[in-house]
This record gives sequence, structure tokens and C-alpha cells, in this order.
Amino acid sequence: MSTRLPLVPQTAAAASRLCVYCPKMCRFSCPVSEATRSETVTPWGKMTMLALTAAAGRAPTVPEEAEALYACSGCLRCQTYCTHENDVPAALYAGRAAAVRAGVAPAAAVSVGAAFRARGSLEAIDLQSAATRWTGPRKRGGVLFAGCEALAREPHTIDAMLSATKALGVPLSVHTAAPLCCGRPLLEAGFAEAFAARAERVATSLRTHAGGRAGRVVVLEPRCAETMVRHYASVGVELALTVNTATTFLAQHLPAAPDRSPFPGHAVYHDACALARGLAETEAPRELLKAAFAGGVHAPEGSDVLCCGAGGLMPRTLPLVAAGMARRLAQTLPAGADDMVVSASGACRRHLADVGTSVVDLVAVVSRWLAGGNKGVMHG
Ligand code: SF4
Ligand code: SF4
Repeated sequence: MSTRLPLVPQTAAAASRLCVYCPKMCRFSCPVSEATRSETVTPWGKMTMLALTAAAGRAPTVPEEAEALYACSGCLRCQTYCTHENDVPAALYAGRAAAVRAGVAPAAAVSVGAAFRARGSLEAIDLQSAATRWTGPRKRGGVLFAGCEALAREPHTIDAMLSATKALGVPLSVHTAAPLCCGRPLLEAGFAEAFAARAERVATSLRTHAGGRAGRVVVLEPRCAETMVRHYASVGVELALTVNTATTFLAQHLPAAPDRSPFPGHAVYHDACALARGLAETEAPRELLKAAFAGGVHAPEGSDVLCCGAGGLMPRTLPLVAAGMARRLAQTLPAGADDMVVSASGACRRHLADVGTSVVDLVAVVSRWLAGGNKGVMHG
């Protein structure tokens, strides 16, 4: 006998009801509603729509309802202004799953499921083949989970992390066994069951290759790390080994850095939402940049960082809105010729590059500094 899943789970329905009775305390905080100037996609608007469909025991039935569920980047900025610390994206992801099950999700979201069934990720290439160049024995620092986007599009960032950790005396080996994507797009698209299955497979593979509870996995992309720490737990999957972000791991081993002169000038650090709010990590990246730059780091945002729009599947489902968010954020970044804007997230960097804003990879900066290299080369 099969059990029919409720269209909108009780936890998401309860979270959405909190918003219905709220005087929109987080109204100003949502970068999506600011970019669209639409009341419908304020956290209150999206959650009220979810509450109404949950109360009626139905999925969204018109395209506008389903689209509103996808108008969230998962940035968690609303949560920082919410007395209840309401997890709006988690509730909206549950609503997206209801939309997928009911067959009313946007085509761009549905195509995520097809891509994962065909290739195991959203990337166009075979990740397994791409990863073979890093195959080798486990090293004493632990295992590096590179993430599908770095494997497919920016392999040099993987090499930079390997170089930096080697210089710090804690070499890493790259995790090259399937699956090589953490599965976050499945969660964001609304394929809840497929995401839970992917989480289980990734956890099993990492435990096997990192050495179980005594092992360590270092995660290059903050969005992957947030997925493993927060979202795997939400579907009942425990990694059962030590998980570090790349920035935490590098900062922990900074005392072992070789004696290097810092780069002249300062860095401007852009906090990624997944790191600053999702994982409450704001200090480690700043420690690294303070060590690498004589003038230290200018980093005004911290946990109140504005979202660039790279998350929540928005570049795929609502590309114009996502680009508008990136342009809005870019206007807040310094424009001086000597300003080097740095981020720890490849997803943020690539999304900002799409609107013409150059942002440098933090791991590449640290790697270059540890190697005694020239700061100017990174601008080339
Ligand atoms: S997330 Fe919190 S502050 Fe925002 S509308 Fe809902 S209950 Fe109110
Ligand atoms: S998580 Fe971010 S994008 Fe989503 S509703 Fe909250 S503030 Fe808006």
C-alpha cells in the first residue's frame, strides 16, 4: 500500500501561516521583491499564497502561483529580520515540490529533473571523466568535494585549493567517485524525493572515501557546503564525518603558512549568502584576506549581505529577475581601479560576471599569496 504525500507538508504549511498573520516585518529585506517591485513576491506574498493553497489542500493551479514559489533565491535575508526566524526558502521549496508533483511547475524547473536523470547534474559534460585527472590516494588533510560547477567550468579553482592546502602542510585529495554533484538543483527545482536520494548517495560515497567518522571532507563551493550541512539534515541524512568549508579549513591552518609578503592594497570581500547566513561564517574569509593583503579587507556587508541572485535556481527560472538582482548588488560594490573584489563562491562570481562585474576567487587569491605570486596576474 502506498502512502500519498500531502501536497504541502505540515511544517511548510505552519511556516506559511506565521507569515499570513505577520505585518510584513521583513518586507524591505527581500532582494527579489526589490528587483521586481512586486508585492506578490515579498516573503509575505509568497508565503501567503503557499498558505492559501495548503489550506485548500491543493497545489498551485495557475502559472502565476507556481512562478511565485520560484521567486526566491534562498538567500535567508528575510530570516534575519523575522522574530520567528522563519525559514521561508525551506517552505517555498516544499511548495515547489507540490507544484512538481501536481505537474504545474515551470518548464525550466522540470528540465532539472530530466538533466539529472540523463547526466546526474545540470552540467553539460560527463563529470566522472572530468574528475579522472585528480584520481589518486587519500591525502592526510582529507577529501576535497569540488562540486559539479568547478569540475565542469573552473578546474583551475580546484588546482588552486590543492596548491594552497599543500603549502599549508595539509594536502587534500579530490573526491572523484560518483555522485559528484551535491544535488542542490534538485531541491531548488522541487524534486524533493530525488534530492533526498541524492543526499543519501553523496553521504555514503563521502564516508567511504573520506574514512568514516574520523574523516574530513572540505567543500570548495559554499552552496554545496550549505546543502550538506543544512539541507541534508532536513531530509534526515547525516554525513557523519567532519565537514569544513574551504575558507574555514584554510583559515584553521593559516598559522602554518610560509613567510610571505602580503599583496599591496586591500581586498573588498563580498559575502556569499550561503556562507554568511546559511552557515554563519563571516570571520574565516576575512582572516584569510587580512593575511594576504597589506591593507587588510574592506567587508561592509557580513550577515546582512545583499543577494546577487545566483541561488534558488533563479538564473534558470527567472533569469531577468536574477540578472536585475546581480546588477543591483554590483552597484553597491566599489568601482576603483585598484579595488579587487573577492568572493568565496564560484556561483556568485560567475553570476556577477554575467552582468559585467569582475570578482576574483578567494581561494585563488590565497593560493597565489602562499606561492609568493603577483596579485596583478589575477586581474588578467
Ligand atoms: S518571514 Fe517572518 S517577518 Fe517575514 S513575513 Fe514571514 S513571519 Fe513575517
Ligand atoms: S530567502 Fe531571500 S529571496 Fe527568499 S523570500 Fe527571503 S529574502 Fe526573499
